[in-house]
Amino acid sequence: MLIKAEEMIPVAGPSITDKEVAYAADAARNAWFSDHYRFNSKFETMFAAYIGVAYAASVPHCTAALHLALAAYGIGPGDQVIAPDVTWIASVAPITYVGAVPVFVDIDPVTWCINPDQVEAAITPKTRAIIAVDLYGSMANWNRLREIADRHNLILIEDAAEAIGSTYNGQRAGSLGDISAFSFHASKTITTGEGGMVCTNDPEIYARIQSLRDHGRAPGDRFFQNNEIAFKYKMSAMQAAIGIAQMERIDELVVRKRQLFQWYRDSLGDVPGLSLNFEPDNVKNSYWMVTVVPNEHYNIDKYELQEKLRDRNIDSRPFFSSLSSLKAFENRPGIRKNIKVSDKSQTVTRNGVNLPSGYQVDKNMANFISSALIEILQGSR
Ligand SMILES: *Cc1c(COP(=O)(O)O)cnc(C)c1O
Repeated sequence: MLIKAEEMIPVAGPSITDKEVAYAADAARNAWFSDHYRFNSKFETMFAAYIGVAYAASVPHCTAALHLALAAYGIGPGDQVIAPDVTWIASVAPITYVGAVPVFVDIDPVTWCINPDQVEAAITPKTRAIIAVDLYGSMANWNRLREIADRHNLILIEDAAEAIGSTYNGQRAGSLGDISAFSFHASKTITTGEGGMVCTNDPEIYARIQSLRDHGRAPGDRFFQNNEIAFKYKMSAMQAAIGIAQMERIDELVVRKRQLFQWYRDSLGDVPGLSLNFEPDNVKNSYWMVTVVPNEHYNIDKYELQEKLRDRNIDSRPFFSSLSSLKAFENRPGIRKNIKVSDKSQTVTRNGVNLPSGYQVDKNMANFISSALIEILQGSR
């Protein structure tokens, strides 16, 4: 008989304590009139200080943060933006919102982040920016990306939605790009239910964002004097209040994420032909999602593996698929379909699965999930 969990173990889940609840209630009571932005200001200040950037602006979600990043630099029709082929669609969809063309390149099969050699090969006179994603908490090769961006005069946009708490050469995720974006969706390392942040050190870009996220008004405008047609991308005080509580606990939360990965690695690290999230010497990985990639010898793809996990009441997620292969990007003009996808990165997108990585997973659960996975893999050989 199959050993299964008593109830379905969810793949993700937040850490919400009395602090988050109390701060949200405080905002619901008090964040009105002249105090309406108090919680947002505090959240933004704390966030910028933690990331190590000069400015942070709270927005409704990371998708908006990326849209604002592109719009603030004036990227638009006729421009190309290089992005990884393997990421959540929100990393790339905003390129189309501003009328620019996404140019997909392969990921590195070990870090799972954008491959700098392919970035370089994809640059044309129309290229304006590179979006690099710190996937599942892993860090992109920022030294190379910075060097390429500077040499070709390109804007470097960091999608750090999955990487709060990770570091690269001691610098925090979100401080490596010219501008960066975060998500506080319920599944992410810190959450405000839905929410996002856009970060930069550039005062002019920050001023552009302030205007663009509030219908083209100057901050503090009381006369309804819109200077341009823009967007409405603001976060509510109740969300910001939850964000403050999460940021007061950020060190504890990142430690917990790393602990969870350690529990899994203790059981799975020596399984032959099974790769886990990578952490090179110059990186601290905050392991947003513990991820396993069985190699070809196991003869099991991500969807089959997920089904077998589900039989044991273990929820999971498939590794992101190649975006350029999705129906969403079919027949769109200008998008390159001739990217060179290595066999190794195909193994990652074909076989990779994210294991339960929420805060409700304790050591016993991680051990149970690991044993179940090993049994499934042994049966599939
Ligand atoms: C979650 C996520 C986003 C989008 O975040 P939202 O807040 O849902 O808009 C963008 N990029 C990556 C890599 C993500 O994981």
